[in-house]
This record gives sequence, C-alpha cells and structure tokens, in this order.
Amino acid sequence: MTQRAYNFNAGPSALPLEVLENAQQQLVNFRNSGMSIMEMSHRSAIFDEVHNEAIALLKKLYAIPENYEVLFLQGGASLQFTMVPMNFLQADKKASYVLSGSWSEKAFKEAKLFGTPVEAASTKENKYRNIPALTDIQFNEDDAYVHITSNNTIYGTQWKEFPETGHVPLVADMSSDILSKPVDVSKFGIIYAGAQKNLGPSGVTVVIIRKDLLEKANNEIPTMLKYTTHADGNSLYNTPPTFGIYMLGEVLKWVEAKGGVEAVAKLNEAKAQVIYDAIDNSNGFYKGHATPESRSLMNITFRVADEELEKQFLGEAKAAGFIGLNGHRSVGGCRASTYNAVPLETCEALRDFMVAFQQKHQ
Ligand code: PMP
Repeated sequence: MTQRAYNFNAGPSALPLEVLENAQQQLVNFRNSGMSIMEMSHRSAIFDEVHNEAIALLKKLYAIPENYEVLFLQGGASLQFTMVPMNFLQADKKASYVLSGSWSEKAFKEAKLFGTPVEAASTKENKYRNIPALTDIQFNEDDAYVHITSNNTIYGTQWKEFPETGHVPLVADMSSDILSKPVDVSKFGIIYAGAQKNLGPSGVTVVIIRKDLLEKANNEIPTMLKYTTHADGNSLYNTPPTFGIYMLGEVLKWVEAKGGVEAVAKLNEAKAQVIYDAIDNSNGFYKGHATPESRSLMNITFRVADEELEKQFLGEAKAAGFIGLNGHRSVGGCRASTYNAVPLETCEALRDFMVAFQQKHQ
C-alpha cells in the first residue's frame, strides 16, 4: 500500500489513488502502443479515442443536454475570465456579475476591458461569509449574461441553488465544485472550470457551452480566444494538453465506478459534515468563516480562537502529516479542501486531530 499524505490542498489537489496507480502502470506503454500517451500525436487513433471518451463520459455523468458542447481548453479558469466577455460582452453592453469572493472580483475586473460589467450583488461587506440571497440579485433583461462563482474557494462558501435568469445566459465559474454534486446544466449558458480540483491535473480547462451562444459570439477576436474555433475543431484546433485530458478521463471513470455524481455528492456531504461538526462542537475554539447556510462542501474555512494557537495548530498539523491546511495567502486562517478525491478517512483523521488539539490546548 502506497503511503499517502492527508492531502487537503486547494488545487492542484488530491487525485484518486487508483487513477494514479493505473496511470503509472500505463505510463511507459499506453494501451500496448510501445509509447506513453505523452509521446503520441494528438491526431492519433488512440488519443482520439481517449479524447472522445472523456467528452462522452463527462456528458453522461453530468447529464449535459445535447445542445451543449464540451470543450477542453488551456489557460486555466483565469483565461475564461477574459474569454467570456471577449466573446459575449459587446462594448456597448452590460453584464451582471455577482461578487462573492476574490475569484468573482477577478472575473469582474477582466470584463471591464470589453464592456460594462455591473454588480448584481456583493457580499464583500460581510467579508464574503455568505452567498447573496437569490432575491437580492439584480440583473437586466438586456444583459449579455449574468456571471456567478458557484463555489468560493478562498472564503469557503457555495451556492445551494442558482438564480433563474430566464433568457439571459447564466455563466458560472465552477472551478472548485464541478462534478461534486448533480447540477441542472440546462440552467446555464456557460459553465467553466479549471480541472485541477475535481477533475484531474492542472493544464486543462473544461468549458460547457450552449450551442446557440456560439452563433452569437464575437468573431472579431484572436482565433485561439474564440469559443467557435475550439467547438468547430473538437478542441483539437491546436495541440491540446493530451496527458491532462487522459487523466481527466480516468478521473471520470473513477467517478462512474463510485456510483456517479449523486453517490460522490453524498460522500462529499458526509466528509464535510465530519469537519464542520468538529468546528461546531468546539464551543468556539474553532470558528467557521462562512455563515452556516452558505457553507461550502469543498473548502472548509475556519480560524482557531487565538492567533498564536492557530500558528501552533497549523505547525502541529503539518508535523502530523496534514498537507494544505493553511488558508489562502490573501486571507490567512485555516482551510481544508475536501474535493471529490479526498477520502472520508482523511477527513476523519483531521477531525480526530482537531479534537485532540483542542483537548490539549484549551
Ligand atoms: N476560479 C476559482 C473559483 C478558483 O478557485 C480558481 C483557482 N483556485 C480560479 C478561478 C483560477 O483558476 P486557474 O488557476 O485555473 O486560472
């Protein structure tokens, strides 16, 4: 049995052990080709199969309707902050952005380069502890789109239901909770996500885009930044990140073997509960950052009662083999990222550590 770290990294983050071991076995001689997947043409029959299998399996697992394209792009979710407005926000148009954390602020800032993004709602005044109420979200009928961040990786908040935006396309950055629970994809115009949390290694960005939007996209922009370029070429206009796409496909097979997205969602709830219970049962020794109704099942953010003790907590946790528990450098504190591939036992080990630390230091 391979010795594995208690990995709570926020991204890149834990991958399923089975996927890694299988990839290791296949590394040098992929499907008896005499070479690794990294050494073969992206136009070869073998890669073609890997690529199309991954697209088909994502469509199946996430119940993506027929009228959507699945694209595998590069540049991370950060490039989507640019591509979305570049393709869909005309200079004389507005788009509404819900500000629920640092990543949505970054998306908002980027949109200013192309048109007029306006705040649909913001929870900044509450230190991004919560997701705005659906009734507080304002947008206009003639907006190019409404943009949200479905899970706020840094603050540890997550949308539980999504706004109805009617004919205005809803665009979601799902980088940190894609495939963690069932989602009604038909509510969205575009979903995008960097792969490095729930889907695979970094280097691949998944874009799920409704086909009718492609017809409305701006054509006067650089070739590589047009969604139509990638949709027309099945994401093979240029050389894609072949190894990343292969790994993503393997992660999808693992999700399927686990029982699909619903089964994974149940497990995610149980995993997060274990750690939130440790916080809630600590009599204020640990303090959750997010308000309970907005708590993320992917990124659990908390503080230890006093600053000195928090440093000690992080130090002792590290020494005990817990990796990635420091909060994002912009906010400090503690954060446990419990993405799909983090086992329940890892969360239980953290719970036990938290309880023991409290007993020792209270
Ligand atoms: N959006 C969210 C919600 C994220 O968590 C991150 C990365 N942590 C990004 C966007 C940026 O992603 P990338 O590094 O792939 O550009």
